[in-house]
Amino acid sequence: MFHDFLDLLYPRMCHGCENPLNANEKILCTTCLHELPVTNQHLEKDNAVEKIFYGRIPVENAVSLLHFEKKGMVQRLIHNLKYRGHEEIGDFLGDWLGSELKKFPEWQEIYAVIPVPLHRQKLNKRGYNQVTKFGQQIAEALDAEFYDEVLLKVTATQTQTVKKRFARWGNIDETLVVKNAELLEGKHVLLVDDLVTTGATLEACAQKLLKIPGLRISIATMAVTH
Ligand SMILES: [Zn+2]
Repeated sequence: MFHDFLDLLYPRMCHGCENPLNANEKILCTTCLHELPVTNQHLEKDNAVEKIFYGRIPVENAVSLLHFEKKGMVQRLIHNLKYRGHEEIGDFLGDWLGSELKKFPEWQEIYAVIPVPLHRQKLNKRGYNQVTKFGQQIAEALDAEFYDEVLLKVTATQTQTVKKRFARWGNIDETLVVKNAELLEGKHVLLVDDLVTTGATLEACAQKLLKIPGLRISIATMAVTH
């Protein structure tokens, strides 16, 4: 009742077509929901995302929920999630992918979900890591832990010269560190990110984590550009 009233005052819009949503619709209207380019990669062995990492890092399973196209609906969803404060899009996509993955034994053995980290400076600016809700929902569906304090992005220790150079370019020299590694010894972890393109970010994260003895890695992202 209260929500219906709020909808009248501030109609919630579909993130796909920007028409008002019905009370029983979330994030996307029914039409847009059915038009989303779903990959169904979790049903496919040796899928396109797994192939990105062939010969680079050992990956148990990899999946992206959606196909990403420039100017398409998925791009709008991720843009609104990252830059417009719509964290609930992460919940929506994570809940969706989690409910699919939990049907399959290879995903049920995930012990912990780990988000690709943001540097604290970016985190403070954005207010949240856009992958957090996505990862939390998947962790809940798989009855796994959610660890966002294990893999961190920090400012690299720099020489004065390097510091000056980065200051001039307005960049921060970032590096990845692993904390509390003992939590993950011998475990199967799921690394999550928003978008996979070249796979370079996920590869760098995986390489750090794979230094933990006995650790195995799977990967899940909201979308893939392939
Ligand atoms: Zn729509």
